[in-house]
Amino acid sequence: MAERKPLIAGNWKLNNNHLEAIALVQKLAFALKDPDFDAAEIVVLPPFTNLRSVQTLVEGDKLRIGYGAQDISAHEKGAYTGEVSGPMLVKLGCTYALAGHSERREYHKEDDAAVNAKVKAAFASDLTPILCLGEGLDVRKAGNQVSHTLGQLEGALKDVTAEQAGRLVVAYEPVWAIGTGEVATPEDAQEVCSALRGRLGELYSQEVADAVRIIYGGSVKADNIADIVTQEDVDGALVGGASLKPEEFVKLARLG
Ligand code: PEP
Repeated sequence: MAERKPLIAGNWKLNNNHLEAIALVQKLAFALKDPDFDAAEIVVLPPFTNLRSVQTLVEGDKLRIGYGAQDISAHEKGAYTGEVSGPMLVKLGCTYALAGHSERREYHKEDDAAVNAKVKAAFASDLTPILCLGEGLDVRKAGNQVSHTLGQLEGALKDVTAEQAGRLVVAYEPVWAIGTGEVATPEDAQEVCSALRGRLGELYSQEVADAVRIIYGGSVKADNIADIVTQEDVDGALVGGASLKPEEFVKLARLG
């Protein structure tokens, strides 16, 4: 079975100007210099306006921190006011882009077709999409979290090839656990992550299912990461609030 290195990705959301971003990345880099932080791959996802500053810092100081964008346009260029394309992100040294975060789905009405177009745009630019999926509280209360999330997975992967799918990261983020302090139990996370891996096997192959990193997101903190990542099908975490606090994020990077 493929070795999957855990991924800890910090989604800064709408926080930090470029000067604050430089200060935060410098603090992270200093703390992460310790050679034993190699437990996980570390990625930050700052606002677009910070990417050039982060690039200068990471490349200049050869930091072992990856970075990417919180969103990506479905289009490469043209009359799409306010959008940022995959080729532009690659030019800024990005290697990842979120697609379908629940806040984009909710506030910007992105449906599965829109998310699918963004996933394909990321692959077309050789970026790794971090595809975000997850159910709301009503769906969870009705016990339909697995079918709901599998439906989102299939919608987002329409016309995505097996070669591309093997490079995907999936983030299972139950909406009721995002920014609420309400964490899914490790067993809840494992239930859905294992179903997602199973469906990737059916849609593509066992090899693809084994290669894809499936991470959990929703109020992850230093004191709950260890229980989450020891689940068989959970390969790391997408972290919002706690990624803004350098000491907490460094503990997360060490997996607790
Ligand atoms: C997120 O925004 O992806 C997230 C998981 O946020 P938080 O960790 O704050 O719940």
